[in-house]
Amino acid sequence: MGESMTVPFLDLKASYNELAAELDTAVLRASRSGWYIGGAEVETFEAEFAAYTQAKYCVGVGNGLDALILALRALDIGAGDEVLVPSHTFIATWLAVSAVGAIPVPVEPISGSYNLDAASAEAYITSRTKAILPVHLYGIPADMDAICQLAKKHRLAVVEDAAQAHGAKVRGKRIGSHGDVVAWSFYPGKNLGALGDAGAITTNDTTIAQRIRKLGNYGSSVKYFNEERGINSRLDPIQAAILAVKLKHLDAWNTRRENIAQHYTRALAHLPITLPQVPAWAEAVWHLYVIATPQRDLLHASLTKADIQTLIHYPVPPHLQRAYMDVGASKLSLPLAERYANEVLSLPIGPQLDAEHVEKVISVVADTSTSTNS
Ligand SMILES: *Cc1c(COP(=O)(O)O)cnc(C)c1O
Repeated sequence: MGESMTVPFLDLKASYNELAAELDTAVLRASRSGWYIGGAEVETFEAEFAAYTQAKYCVGVGNGLDALILALRALDIGAGDEVLVPSHTFIATWLAVSAVGAIPVPVEPISGSYNLDAASAEAYITSRTKAILPVHLYGIPADMDAICQLAKKHRLAVVEDAAQAHGAKVRGKRIGSHGDVVAWSFYPGKNLGALGDAGAITTNDTTIAQRIRKLGNYGSSVKYFNEERGINSRLDPIQAAILAVKLKHLDAWNTRRENIAQHYTRALAHLPITLPQVPAWAEAVWHLYVIATPQRDLLHASLTKADIQTLIHYPVPPHLQRAYMDVGASKLSLPLAERYANEVLSLPIGPQLDAEHVEKVISVVADTSTSTNS
């Protein structure tokens, strides 16, 4: 114990082990059904996830990036259109906009938060702007009331990137239908994670739900009759069976994350580091516990030396990625996104992280932060 104890960033094997009996039963059932695309497993999960997210419809798709792309396509967003996106986010948010031929227009976060600032977004709206694409980053919801109000005023669509926010709430209402379409990822490391790639969209709009189901199935509603140039992006029945099992445990697992987050917040509050802020109207689900400090690299090194795994979400902001070099994105002035890339550090958090590990993280962060700032 003590010195030699490795603290994993997120132990996916432990997550599987805890539910192994239930998960194995579900996989066997799906395998033995003889039905391997669509069907009962997918329909059951879609109905349960729609109910959980308080949305009318859920359509399973192949992954989170496809969910975003299909959401934009279902809203007829394409070549030449502009979509407001956060400057500080995972690259998939931007890539989805680029994939449909539209232009991602970055908006900086609210100071003291990591989410898109609706107030400063207004200045970026032009005659070409078609949608706002907020991300509920790290599991802390964006202010959907402010964002939807702005969208309504300018007749813009709202697509939410909820890949990190399964179960989060805004003013008591679950993420799932504040915007026109909500895109979900069930990548294994998410709060609700499959044992492989998977994704979904939720919406209250019948037309959008039907269009996304068609677009993700070759643009076809009736086999071999193709109304649109769609893609193949469907939720795998085996993953759906797995997700239905894990959905039943999501709230309990989010509560465990919440307890760890509260413990970190209490224990680290006196240190000269920035802790995550959750607005009073929000319920976060702690996909990540992200701290920020100008001494990030030093802290990262101390934690690594102590066998504590940490990650940086994200080390390079989208506008500085080589993928966006040809459009001159690096010339944009996005000081907050650039500062966060240099200062943020994600501490270990997850439903299977034990108390002893949490204590070890706290003690190394406390020792390092005190000695580097005194
Ligand atoms: C994980 C993630 C995605 C993409 O999901 P995939 O299933 O990996 O395609 C999109 N946006 C955000 C914010 C994410 O964290």
